[in-house]
Amino acid sequence: MKKPNPTVVGKMRCECGEVMEVRQRSNGRKLLYTYCPACKVDQRSSQHVQDYWRDNMVAPDTPDDVIAKLAISAPEPTQETKPDQVPAVIDDDELEEWSPAEMEQTEIEPEQGSGLLLPVGLFFGAIVALIGFNAAFR
Ligand SMILES: [Zn+2]
Repeated sequence: MKKPNPTVVGKMRCECGEVMEVRQRSNGRKLLYTYCPACKVDQRSSQHVQDYWRDNMVAPDTPDDVIAKLAISAPEPTQETKPDQVPAVIDDDELEEWSPAEMEQTEIEPEQGSGLLLPVGLFFGAIVALIGFNAAFR
C-alpha cells in the first residue's frame, strides 16, 4: 500500500528545469528522495546525493515560480570509494622479526602442525556426522 500523502520536506529545481519535491521516507533510514513531474522519482541513497538534496532544497511552501528562477545545479559526480588519506604506517613488528640467534631452533615446527590438525579433524568429523544425521532422518 502506498501512502496517500508523502512527507514533502522541501522543493528544488530539477536538472530538467521542472520544480521537484524533496520527500522523506517514513521508514528505515528516513532517506530523502525527489519527485519531478518530468523525471519521476529519484531514490538515490548515496550520502553525496542525500547531502546535496538536504543542502539545496528550499522550504516546501516556496512558490513554484520562485523555485523556477533558482539556478539549476546537480550533485557533482564523485568517487564514492575515495579512501581517506591515510599515511602509510610501518608496522613495528616487522622490525623485530630479525632474530639471528634463534634461527637454528627449528624443532618447534612439527608441534605447530599437529596442533592445527586436531581441531581441523574434529571439524570435518562434525560435518560428516551432521550430514549422516540429516540423511538418516530424511
Ligand atoms: Zn526533472
